[in-house]
Amino acid sequence: MAQQHSSSGNLRPVALIIEDEPSIRFVVSKALQADGWAVHEAETVRQGLIQTGTRRPDLIILDLGLPDEDGLRYLQDLRAWSSVPVIVLSAKDFETDKVAALDAGADDYLTKPFSVKELTARARASQRRRLPQAGPGGSAAGTFNFGTVEVDLISRTVKRQGSDVHLTPIEYRLLITMIANPRKLLTHADLLTAVWGPAYSHNREYLRVYIACLRKKLEENPAEPKHFITEASTGYRLMP
Ligand code: CA
Repeated sequence: MAQQHSSSGNLRPVALIIEDEPSIRFVVSKALQADGWAVHEAETVRQGLIQTGTRRPDLIILDLGLPDEDGLRYLQDLRAWSSVPVIVLSAKDFETDKVAALDAGADDYLTKPFSVKELTARARASQRRRLPQAGPGGSAAGTFNFGTVEVDLISRTVKRQGSDVHLTPIEYRLLITMIANPRKLLTHADLLTAVWGPAYSHNREYLRVYIACLRKKLEENPAEPKHFITEASTGYRLMP
């Protein structure tokens, strides 16, 4: 599951902190929660990989010096199937370590000790970079429009004909995965891996169920979809 519901009903972005030092986990976790994130924690590479699959984070904060394996090893495994933003934390202050982390797929790098304010600012920036470009038909930056649907990618709210539409976290993640790739054919495996994780890449029935939910909530006529298009035996395509 990705976004979780906050008390206001909005979908909070999810951060996963992989760090073995409890005091740093505590400080980073509190700061991110205060900034609107739902936070999960792991202490080892092994726990981190499990939590990445189950929590579906929108951001990963990764320490490089972990007790079971090097954080770089986690990053290399992760990048085989996910492009989720990763901010690396490291006590190491050598140029070569920084270069190795960025080469392995880190998006950003902070050397300990770091300012918590700087970390939360970079966490927010990581999500702005993820937002798709403004959609067709004059969508404002940070929103994506198709048909009578407007998706606000910053507040994570969806309206159809001006009225709020409630999406579950899985429905929302599926929708934004398709919005990030408008008009492009996304295979069943692409979508299943992005939304549920690589262990689910063959569960096509999940997609059938959730695409049907999105059509019911967002299409004018769910029986004749104009936006969530089925490509026979291959996948799906979002037509704005
Ligand atoms: Ca450490």
